[in-house]
Amino acid sequence: MSIAENIANIRRAIAEVCPQGGITLVAATKMNDADRVREAIAAGVDACGENKVQEFLEKDALGAYEGAPRHFIGHLQRNKVNKIVGKVDLIQSVDSSELLTLINRRAEALGIVQDILIEISIAGEEQKSGIAPHELPKLLEEASVLPALRVRGLMCVPPIQEESGENRHYFAQMKQLFVDNSNKKYDNVSMDFLSMGMTDDYLDAIAEGANMVRIGSAIFGARNYAAMP
Ligand SMILES: *Cc1c(COP(=O)(O)O)cnc(C)c1O
Repeated sequence: MSIAENIANIRRAIAEVCPQGGITLVAATKMNDADRVREAIAAGVDACGENKVQEFLEKDALGAYEGAPRHFIGHLQRNKVNKIVGKVDLIQSVDSSELLTLINRRAEALGIVQDILIEISIAGEEQKSGIAPHELPKLLEEASVLPALRVRGLMCVPPIQEESGENRHYFAQMKQLFVDNSNKKYDNVSMDFLSMGMTDDYLDAIAEGANMVRIGSAIFGARNYAAMP
């Protein structure tokens, strides 16, 4: 199946669980070259998400993302902040006060406002990025006094599921956290996006309230890690 056919199938499946629309489909483009990224954009994805800074910069230099918003969805190292701020429309994976400060500083220097999401470690997995849910109010308070960034919502990467449906309770917890914190009014914070759900669980995520999904393999086919240099 072609990339365009895969995207059409995903859109159909999404429309079935969410006929009212309003779901942002982010193509997770890692390990796919500029031509394949362009194909996905031509077929109508709403944005492209990369998770490595170097890979993003290389493809960006080739004009891969023309016509689509760019998102950064991977773990952002502090020493790479300056390479990404202002180059992407949304940094989805902010998970520390240090990152908030560095992003704000860089955005201020560029004279822009950087949109970000806060990444939540919803399953509490030690090795994963993301803050614990209880740390969110503190981070939002910190963000509220940083004028060169704007928090647009929350993101999570739950565990790889053994069986379909396993992550639904995590998605439900995320939705609750999203709603609870939407009701508190912080400056520079507007809870617009709840980014959760990938190839194996995006329909569950949407059923539980996601309005942004990040999909890689269902669009591009399985990634061939063995072929990586
Ligand atoms: C790769 C990736 C995805 C998409 O994964 P698939 O299972 O291939 O859909 C989503 N989010 C992040 C952060 C990723 O790195």
